[in-house]
Amino acid sequence: MITGRHYIDGQWVDGDSAKTRDILNPYDASVIARVAEGGRAEAQAAIKAARKAFDNGGWSQTPAAERGKLLFKLAELIERDHEELARLESLDTGKTVEESRWDMDDIAGIFRYFAGLADKDGGEVIESPIPDSTSTVVREPVGVCGQISPWNYPLLQASWKMAPALAAGCTIVMKPSEITPLTTLKVTELAEEAGFPKGVVNTVLGPGPEVGAELSENTGVDLISFTGGIATGKTIMRAAAANVKKVALELGGKNPNIVFDDADLALAVDYALNGVFFHAGQICSAGARVLVQNGIYDQFVKALKLRMERIVIGNGFDEKTQMGPLISADHLAKVESYVEVARKEGARLVLGGKRPNDPALQQGYFYMPTLFADCENDMRIVQEEVFGPVITVERFSSEEEVIERANSTIYGLSAGFWTRDADRMERVSRALRFGTVWINDFNVYFVQAPWGGYKQSGLGRELGKIGLEEYTEVKHVFRNHATKALNWFGA
Ligand code: NAD
Repeated sequence: MITGRHYIDGQWVDGDSAKTRDILNPYDASVIARVAEGGRAEAQAAIKAARKAFDNGGWSQTPAAERGKLLFKLAELIERDHEELARLESLDTGKTVEESRWDMDDIAGIFRYFAGLADKDGGEVIESPIPDSTSTVVREPVGVCGQISPWNYPLLQASWKMAPALAAGCTIVMKPSEITPLTTLKVTELAEEAGFPKGVVNTVLGPGPEVGAELSENTGVDLISFTGGIATGKTIMRAAAANVKKVALELGGKNPNIVFDDADLALAVDYALNGVFFHAGQICSAGARVLVQNGIYDQFVKALKLRMERIVIGNGFDEKTQMGPLISADHLAKVESYVEVARKEGARLVLGGKRPNDPALQQGYFYMPTLFADCENDMRIVQEEVFGPVITVERFSSEEEVIERANSTIYGLSAGFWTRDADRMERVSRALRFGTVWINDFNVYFVQAPWGGYKQSGLGRELGKIGLEEYTEVKHVFRNHATKALNWFGA
């Protein structure tokens, strides 16, 4: 049985409480690991360690090139243990091992990208308007960072936070989701092996309302970075007010995928599937809300149904499997309740809407790919994040109408649209109020480009150069080197 402990101040510890948590495999609800379950005391100890490691200047004053070297080393170790990490991620989340392998490739690349960026910004010299003076702007690490990650892409989301924070010279306390901590623990081990000084990287296990709440409230934390649901994000934002912490939030999304009449229909159908069914739709940027123009609406719904019927559901370790289970019994119940809501709202169920009949899948948290057509803008199934293998399709007539409808959401994470008209590409990409807009594609991301949400999908950006800047404070240094003082008040 896999076990796991907290990593605090360079030590693996059980923590104050003797509590443990069983980690389940969503494929069959079997126990795959037993890990320590911490609370506020463990979070406080980790914050203290991170504070000491930051305030003694050791890490923040380490030349950026040296910090980069350690991150490069960590990327190498992730590559060395790539297969083990991928299998661990699939065991913990149920997603196909092929998807987990892609995640691990990305993760090594993320550490490499921020390792390379660590020493690239030497500050800026400003043209001072004052004679005989020099004005420079430098970026310095924010300090101690609390980092809270979700269960859908456990290590990927953690690495979006760990890599830039460490590159910037911050010290961190990472809290993985309590139901999927295994790969974050493994990478913490690799950080130890790479040689990060003690107190720089700390990982604390435990529930959000205790460990996460402590990180959000504690005045020893300078920045809290959170990825997860919108309600938790609001709680964290309120808690962070205690010491006016910097707050970075990556929250949910309800992401429109718009298909115009002139689109390449076959490709748009293909990508409508790619947009939703990876990891059983548990993707913050899932294109779960599809809007299709009148002229091709019926054809599109028919083609989508045919393709969705062929999705192979099963064990993520079986090479034939295309879609695994949902993460937990609670989450399965949430998806089921949304399907009920959609039925009552009058959405037309075209496919799915139930758990699979296959006897081999009854122990796990499986749900069938589900298609609702003829949906309306104000239905809850259209407006709220289901976070499961459910697509809704709406019909529209004009470009103006679809822009208005796509923007009529509290979220603003991502959107995509399909057309061959170059002028429309310009108009629509400008009009959509989302942090990422894809033209003739869906769900593409890479470390070089920023990621984050407009509106209630979040605050700040991860990835890209801006992802590093989030972990820095900006300091203006002004130096007077005039030989004569301006003796205004006279002696
Ligand atoms: P969640 O909000 O339930 O939990 C996320 C993390 O917050 C977990 O580690 C949890 O322990 C912690 N937490 C819970 N309560 C807390 C509290 N009171 N104080 C501090 N921390 C607390 O979210 P989830 O169900 O794990 O993840 C799914 C959500 O994440 C979806 O809404 C999804 O859209 C979002 N998400 C967003 C992005 C993005 O890039 N915008 C990426 C992945 C997931």
